[in-house]
Amino acid sequence: MEKESRTIVFASHNAHKTEEMRRICGERFRIVSLADLGCDTDIPENGLTLEENAEAKARWVYERYGMECFADDTGLEVDALGGAPGVHTARFAGPECDARANVDLLLERLRGVSDRRARFRTVIAHMDTSGVLRLFHGTAEGSIAEARRGVAGFGYDPVFVPEGSVLSFAEMGADEKNAISHRGRATAGLITFLQSTLSPLT
Ligand code: IMP
Repeated sequence: MEKESRTIVFASHNAHKTEEMRRICGERFRIVSLADLGCDTDIPENGLTLEENAEAKARWVYERYGMECFADDTGLEVDALGGAPGVHTARFAGPECDARANVDLLLERLRGVSDRRARFRTVIAHMDTSGVLRLFHGTAEGSIAEARRGVAGFGYDPVFVPEGSVLSFAEMGADEKNAISHRGRATAGLITFLQSTLSPLT
């Protein structure tokens, strides 16, 4: 009997994250992105929390396509900045900014600051084909480096050093990062749930 491969929409335009998700989810789930559906809409993210944003994105896809789907929202919380940028992490340096500008601003705000503790938090919102919502959480504790290190990954990876490591996320291989990352941990919760919904292999 062939193994079941179930199609699930990942409500994201980020090719890096989609690839990470495919690696983490494994071959029993066929993860398709918004681009794979021919959708180029930027889903609005106006929530006050990561939970609200993740749910809004999953609901948006479910209402248009009626497919099983999930969405994630991630925030970087820096202790010395009172938890900022938090829910504004993607737009830290302004609405039209890119990762380079965000990281530049973060390093600038933390210049001369000795308390560099920070964490990434990810919330994943999953909706099944009946529209039932489930949330999964993942956190990676760490600190902000004094300067960029490494070229792998995306976003704030070059300046985020996870607790217990001397390497930044951008100095790690994808599997090494996924094993300890916020998204990897939140996704592990999602996978455990998805596997519990699969029919047993014969
Ligand atoms: P989003 O919720 O995935 O759109 O991410 C919000 C912001 O956090 C964006 O600026 C991303 O670049 C950044 N971000 C999300 N996940 C990661 C990560 O694993 N490493 C570095 N930056 C990330």
